[in-house]
Amino acid sequence: MPELPEVETTRRSFADRIAGATVSEVRLGKPLRWPLGCEPDALRGARIGTALRRGKYLWLPVGSGGLLLHLGMSGSLAFGEQAAPPGAHDHFDLVTDRGTLRLTDPRRFGAVVWSSAIDAPPAATLLARLGLEPFDAAFGGEHLHRALRGRRVAIKQALLAGDIVVGAGNIYACEALFRAGIDPRAAAGRVGRARCDALADALRLILAQALDLGGSTLRDFRDAHGMAGSFQRHAAVYGREGQPCTVCGTPVRRIVQGQRSTFFCPRCQRR
Ligand SMILES: [Zn+2]
Repeated sequence: MPELPEVETTRRSFADRIAGATVSEVRLGKPLRWPLGCEPDALRGARIGTALRRGKYLWLPVGSGGLLLHLGMSGSLAFGEQAAPPGAHDHFDLVTDRGTLRLTDPRRFGAVVWSSAIDAPPAATLLARLGLEPFDAAFGGEHLHRALRGRRVAIKQALLAGDIVVGAGNIYACEALFRAGIDPRAAAGRVGRARCDALADALRLILAQALDLGGSTLRDFRDAHGMAGSFQRHAAVYGREGQPCTVCGTPVRRIVQGQRSTFFCPRCQRR
């Protein structure tokens, strides 16, 4: 599943090239998660602005409004001057005078939705429940500690929910908890302030590493999943069940929390 670093890397791969372009055609394939919400022809002639990211959504200003894009479970976006005719999994093409932005999404949980503004419905509705951006100055141990207070759910699941901070997808949540020395099963409300500071720092560090990896593969960026794969090769616990912890040598454990695999070191990570 494309996570925040993949979405941000995708944004960087086309934002500069498409800004200022003019829409010549919008082509739709099979239905995505939600309908486009406007007539495709209504976008013809509209000018494109600078793409922004919020959580795992991208906002692309187009004419008097914009398009909110989400890659869902299996989507990827590519921008190219010479796009081949749409294939079976290409469900949205934004054809411009500078090239075509194409959403390829075999499972079709992705979405492209028209909104008159990012802070008006439907965009505002979809973005309303998102937590802080991890690199926002307002995010840190204090915010995390305050937001976790009173929550009985396991810390890993509180992170994954995305309403406190965005970007802590499964792989990144596991890695950040390992780095901060926190047992993923610990009750969220019982993680103290100092450990919240460590967790916030760890999450930023892990995401920055993932973004660096994305940046290094930016030139050939085609597949949003390739990046998670390359980050995984650097993972300390994720995907390493039974292998020795990189710090203490204890075998890494895998458990299931909320139907997702959690990897952790039973010795380095405390409740
Ligand atoms: Zn260990």
